[in-house]
Amino acid sequence: MIIDCHGHYTTAPAEAEAWRKLQVQALGDPAQAPRKAQLRISDDQIRESLEGAQLKLQRERGTDLTIFSPRASSMAHHIGDAQTSRVWSEICNELVHRCCTLYPENFAGVGQLPQSPGVPPETCIPELERCVKEFGFVGCNLNPDPSGGHWKEPPLTDNWWYPLYEKMVELEVPAMVHVSTSCNPAFHTTGAHYLNADTTAFMQFLTSDLFKDFPTLKFVIPHGGGAVPYHWGRFRGLAQDMKRPPLHELLLKNVFFDTCVYHRPGIELLLKVVPVDNILFASEMVGAVRGIDPETGHHYDDTRRYVDSIDWLSDADKKKIFEGNARKVYPRLRKS
Ligand SMILES: [Zn+2]
Repeated sequence: MIIDCHGHYTTAPAEAEAWRKLQVQALGDPAQAPRKAQLRISDDQIRESLEGAQLKLQRERGTDLTIFSPRASSMAHHIGDAQTSRVWSEICNELVHRCCTLYPENFAGVGQLPQSPGVPPETCIPELERCVKEFGFVGCNLNPDPSGGHWKEPPLTDNWWYPLYEKMVELEVPAMVHVSTSCNPAFHTTGAHYLNADTTAFMQFLTSDLFKDFPTLKFVIPHGGGAVPYHWGRFRGLAQDMKRPPLHELLLKNVFFDTCVYHRPGIELLLKVVPVDNILFASEMVGAVRGIDPETGHHYDDTRRYVDSIDWLSDADKKKIFEGNARKVYPRLRKS
């Protein structure tokens, strides 16, 4: 079985985006805010939005189950206030839940948290509980920077986040560290902000004792870990200089990387550097990069090809990457 741990509902019917537009337009005048019930999307529209995209690609590429969350760039936690984020997150999560209900073999849900800049993360707990207990979701996406590229929140290792972590541990759900759109023009959303955040989160984990406080808390750092694998020696050396324990003791029971690196040499580096137990297969389709690589004739995000092509990787290790590690990190997959 091949589990893709990173997919977003990027093809949601246009009605959802139109509803969001109305919500944003009404920010200065709450009386004008659209009601949730005004959003009408039929099951057929949802089927249509998936059949020609995620489901088609699953079939073509031979992957089985996608761990599926709302479109990350649309979370836009910096827009409006906590109430704005709450209603928008509910809508996005309900749409993903409908996808998972229509195609239970193909999708397992991951929730968007209703974060808002400066608002304590425990306000996200009710929506997280709803996603896990009512919808059967298996994880959440946690935005380390709800300010959208201005980095105003404390590091992920600060006590600020602890109430949310306590709930994640209780519910046995990991978080994918995932920023949203950048409203800082210095950072391109998918080309810079995403990768910066991945790298930043890893360095935050390295400098703290978070996992002493939460030995079973788990994070997936997407996009191959940003710059982390390429600079593995720097991170090991920094930890050593800071008299921190070696990385495998410090964080490798808790921090995992996906394979959303869109070329073979990058995947090969990831696999050589990061222990195989810490790598989860993912493609992030249909996502950030949708084109075909003229050098290979295949989609950049067809990441299964890269993993399959690495002949020095044993079958047992491939099985871990494709399935076993995801089952360890997302224990609720067994229950869903
Ligand atoms: Zn993503």
